[in-house]
Amino acid sequence: MPAGNKKHILIVGAGPGGLTAGMLLAHRGFRVTIVEKNDRVGGRNSELNLDGFSFDLGPTFLHQKFCLDEIFAETGSRSEDHLDFVDLNPMTRLSWGDTSLHTYSDTEKMSAEIEEVFPGSSEGFRRYMREHAEKFRKIYPSLQHPYHSPTSFLRPGLLRALPYVLTNRSVHDVLGDYFDEERLKLAFTFQAKYLGMSPWHCPALFSILSFTEYRYGVYHVQGGLNRISHAMADVFTKLGGELRLEAPVKQLRMSGKNLTGAELENGEVIHADAVVVNADYGHAATRLFNGHNASEDKMRGKQFSCSTFMIYLGIDKLYENEPHHHIIFADDYKANVADIQSQRHVSDDMSIYVRNSCVTDPHVAPAGQSGLYILVPTINTRHGFDWENHKEAYADKILRRIEERTSMKDLRSRIITKRIISPADWESSSIFMGATFNLAHTMRQMLYFRPHNRFNGFNNCYLVGGGTHPGSGLPTIYESGRISANLICEQFGMPYQPVDLASAYLRDA
Ligand SMILES: Cc1cc2nc3c(=O)[nH]c(=O)nc-3n(C[C@H](O)[C@H](O)[C@H](O)COP(=O)(O)OP(=O)(O)OC[C@H]3O[C@@H](n4cnc5c(N)ncnc54)[C@H](O)[C@@H]3O)c2cc1C
Repeated sequence: MPAGNKKHILIVGAGPGGLTAGMLLAHRGFRVTIVEKNDRVGGRNSELNLDGFSFDLGPTFLHQKFCLDEIFAETGSRSEDHLDFVDLNPMTRLSWGDTSLHTYSDTEKMSAEIEEVFPGSSEGFRRYMREHAEKFRKIYPSLQHPYHSPTSFLRPGLLRALPYVLTNRSVHDVLGDYFDEERLKLAFTFQAKYLGMSPWHCPALFSILSFTEYRYGVYHVQGGLNRISHAMADVFTKLGGELRLEAPVKQLRMSGKNLTGAELENGEVIHADAVVVNADYGHAATRLFNGHNASEDKMRGKQFSCSTFMIYLGIDKLYENEPHHHIIFADDYKANVADIQSQRHVSDDMSIYVRNSCVTDPHVAPAGQSGLYILVPTINTRHGFDWENHKEAYADKILRRIEERTSMKDLRSRIITKRIISPADWESSSIFMGATFNLAHTMRQMLYFRPHNRFNGFNNCYLVGGGTHPGSGLPTIYESGRISANLICEQFGMPYQPVDLASAYLRDA
């Protein structure tokens, strides 16, 4: 089709959701423009440069790599043509005081590890893997479709999944069916934190999260997971898409129920036939919809995920004996999680995730040095904790705990450079309530009850990213980009050839 006749799609934000939609729509024959407010692509999945050290700002675990592969495959290449993946084994070290468990995506190795650390418990693990293969097979297809009306629940695929969805049980309850040992339950439920939720409140269906990890593994990308965003942007522009950085949208423009484009902060107006919003849901819905904004109070009435307190450190040596991913549980993990759920208390007995990717990846720090990424799940900004005056002291408490609980005994004396990002900083970067994992994934905010991929109230506005269906986390965010791209194709009668790699993985689950 001549370029002038193509429908023009405007995408607000070059995060993983916006880039996915951009790649697919550019490939499927649309004229696509992505406008991004920052000077780089990736959003929360972008690169943070600090005095010669390169950090991932956010995501460090890539799960269900086949979801990403499908997006590249549809646009005519393999993800491996662009990115150097490392299938981590062991995946993570989990530590409780003096006890550590290494996790593997190889079932035999994982069984042996469980048997060694928690004798007699490996049978429960094998049963968990068998039964969750079936659960995953039933639930996964129901995440690949939009939920625009209550009748969506009657789709045959979803009917099969309903017994897993319609239950009051939590992820922690489910794991009680497999393990008596509390620490093992945590090894299979802490993944609720990937959604910013508590294992004791996270709906039972999400027990598939740990299954996907133990079955399909955790991937690193050499150079950092932010390389994924760069690769997606490269493919997008090679397909003819226009990417404009440092181009913040001030207001969306509309005529009745149709969006007509957007006005940038500099006054420029971009016209479009449809608009895809990748900006953080709570932020966008309360600020960008020109006269149709959701009220701040109404938005605050929804449930939001926790936030994260981040420390990025440049270190003058490499801690060779520290693993790539290390999760150090709070002494009283349940109390720590309850503090976070309260949205009021900052735990002193905190859980800490330390990523020491230089043991795998030589590309992210100057020679002989290394970078540490430290993440502590904590309260969002709902009740307004004064982070500005407490963040240095809190960072020091975290670093002292890392020195006590790991072999990095001299950590604080080895720091060359440091950056802290507190929940208040996340909020200042246009993330509503600093809730880094977006709207909580409660039963009342999932499927039909989550903001729809075709945004309610407009004929041609689509949402992508963690705030819409299927939810927060890279694989589901890629899926949101694809669902919205499919809906746009339906709206404009554009054919496309879907790529399905997932079915083979489900069959072999
Ligand atoms: C610390 C942290 C760790 C995480 N770890 C993992 C992990 O290990 N694995 C995993 O799967 N997921 C993880 N996540 C969750 C999730 O995968 C990422 O947050 C992901 O980047 C979210 O993608 P998104 O597309 O929803 O939005 P974003 O990445 O937030 O992208 C939105 C984009 O919109 C832009 N934008 C906003 N407003 C405007 C405007 N007015 N005009 C133009 N552009 C605008 C923003 O600048 C941004 O680039 C993590 C998240 C965080 C914060």
